Amino acid sequence: MQLRIGNGYDIHRLVPGRPLILGGVRLEHPLGLDGHSDADVLVHALIDALLGALSLGDIGGHFPPEDPRWKDADSLELLAQVIALVRERGWEVVNVDAVVVAERPRLKPRIEAMRASIAARLGVEPDQVGVKATTNEGLGPTGREEGIACHAVALLQKP
Ligand code: MG
Repeated sequence: MQLRIGNGYDIHRLVPGRPLILGGVRLEHPLGLDGHSDADVLVHALIDALLGALSLGDIGGHFPPEDPRWKDADSLELLAQVIALVRERGWEVVNVDAVVVAERPRLKPRIEAMRASIAARLGVEPDQVGVKATTNEGLGPTGREEGIACHAVALLQKP
């Protein structure tokens, strides 16, 4: 059995007038993430981890922000396309794990919903999808609530 690991990172600005969507789950918050797609920073970091595990480039190469097709795109749809690419090459997800860095809102009550929506789109069990949340203790751009960031890893296996 072969194994591959990948990591991903993303950050988006918090702005008024945008919905806040993390892991495909809409959160109540006065600010949302700015971006060409729905700016789901958690799903974007996971996509880069999956692509990175197979050295397939990055999210910007697969879904260029200047392409009108991805305007306000549902990032879970992009994740579905990426997992299809992974499976076409004969690989399966062992697990993915992510940590979202956000000062506010409090994410804990919605973590299970995020795990379920990501697992459904990846075609894996929720226990193969780790999602954690941390604040940045008021430090840096995430600590000042200028944005939300996410770090992710993905482990793939090929039988
Ligand atoms: Mg992004």
